[in-house]
Amino acid sequence: MPNRTLYQAVIGLEIHAQLATKSKLFCGDATSFGADPNTHVSPITLGHPGTLPKTNAKAVEYAIKMGLACGSTIAKENYFARKNYFYADLPKGYQISQHTTPICEGGQVAIQTSEGEKPIQLNRIHLEEDAGKSIHDLSPTDSYIDLNRAGTPLIEIVTEPCIHSAEDAFLYVSEVRKLVRWLGICDGNMEEGSLRCDANISVRLKGEEKLGTRVEVKNLNSIRNIKKAIEFEIDRLIGLVEKGETIIQQTRSFDASNDTTFSIRDKEDANDYRYFPDPDLAPFVLTDSFIDSIQTTLPALPNQLKKDWSQQFGLNAYDIDQLCENKLEADFYLLWTKHTTLYKAAANWMIGPIRAYLNEEHKTYADLIPLLPQLSELLNMVDQHLLNFSVAADKVFNAIVLNAVSPMEFASSNQLLQNSNEDELTNWINIVLNNHPDKVEAYKKGKKGLIGLFVGEVKKISKGKSDPQKTTQLLEAILSK
Ligand code: ADP
Ligand code: MG
Repeated sequence: MPNRTLYQAVIGLEIHAQLATKSKLFCGDATSFGADPNTHVSPITLGHPGTLPKTNAKAVEYAIKMGLACGSTIAKENYFARKNYFYADLPKGYQISQHTTPICEGGQVAIQTSEGEKPIQLNRIHLEEDAGKSIHDLSPTDSYIDLNRAGTPLIEIVTEPCIHSAEDAFLYVSEVRKLVRWLGICDGNMEEGSLRCDANISVRLKGEEKLGTRVEVKNLNSIRNIKKAIEFEIDRLIGLVEKGETIIQQTRSFDASNDTTFSIRDKEDANDYRYFPDPDLAPFVLTDSFIDSIQTTLPALPNQLKKDWSQQFGLNAYDIDQLCENKLEADFYLLWTKHTTLYKAAANWMIGPIRAYLNEEHKTYADLIPLLPQLSELLNMVDQHLLNFSVAADKVFNAIVLNAVSPMEFASSNQLLQNSNEDELTNWINIVLNNHPDKVEAYKKGKKGLIGLFVGEVKKISKGKSDPQKTTQLLEAILSK
């Protein structure tokens, strides 16, 4: 095994996120996933002579949204450039991208690591169009091309070479995926290729300033594979350096069948692409008022909610992270806080029984919105010890989601209400203690664990109605006399 401790890994990530616009970046072809091959392909997508591309304003807006959410500087003057290369899935022979004028510069995405929050610095976010898709696994002899994807708008989010572990890379990609979904600009679906990541990796001796020669690993279609590919590459590169070999700048691919990478080509340089400004697309200039108008549509971001919700609702960081897994969940929570002040209980119900129910029944939060009054009443009943939590979660919750019942009416007509009346509980307790003088003796001598048995016996003679919490309190008081 190579000696990792002498070296520092340096990682820079490029994430391509497909923007969730209805149409492509430069024409009206639909972007929907899963259509019959080559059905969303107009002459503009094919770059036929005489066609004129036109920039999709929604895509520009989405790119700006991402930049504002990351604290990037938004460029006022924007140009598109042609990146020329030949490939079968690139019918025009060039890809339209932003070579020297990315729409967003700088900015950062914060990740939560075991050592605390770390900012990952962004170099830029630029707009570009996607290529088509080559399909190699449908036939043993032929490759197929589907051009539906050609021209779909992408943003490429590029970090500085400032990440130093596979784990941080993992956290960063998770955070970016969460953010694009939160903003509603990309569905973040890695299996369908809506979010793709290339990892640039180099190693250097600790303390050294100069960056080592990098390799770029492509085709990473899950966050777990990104981590595995980086771990593999770090070891491989350190191994090469230790053997005194020269690392060559390469493009590599990840092989998920054995968690290794292999070389696909030596890396091209920018001058190989003969970039030049696209003569068919006028530069577009963004005004302050346009950028400001987008700023006002930005939702509160999870990091902001973390501060707000701990103050407003007394939630801990874990609860907030859970509720901010996705925006629908966070929005539902906020809506619920308009119906109840049992903030912590509402969070617990969402993270526990409600999530389980939505998963099992394939329902969404939207289905629960009309039931918020009943759900809030349910929280109250548990809070006031009228129902114990498991009966509430198993029986009453189900009745609410099935038939929108009033929890109070349902619980009383089904004899589910708990008894927390002190006189009645004390009566039952006295019966139980009288029946078990030896156990009472043992308890008083220190066998405190017997409390559970007493609580259970009280439950039995109350036919399941005794409130266990209240019973325990009363028992402790009576037995300590
Ligand atoms: P290209 O245009 O070839 O994609 P960029 O300069 O845009 O190259 O860099 C792509 C990514 O590679 C960025 O995330 C950058 O931080 C990262 N990167 C550049 N040099 C190195 C290096 N020596 N080691 C690790 N990552 C690097
Ligand atoms: Mg690149």
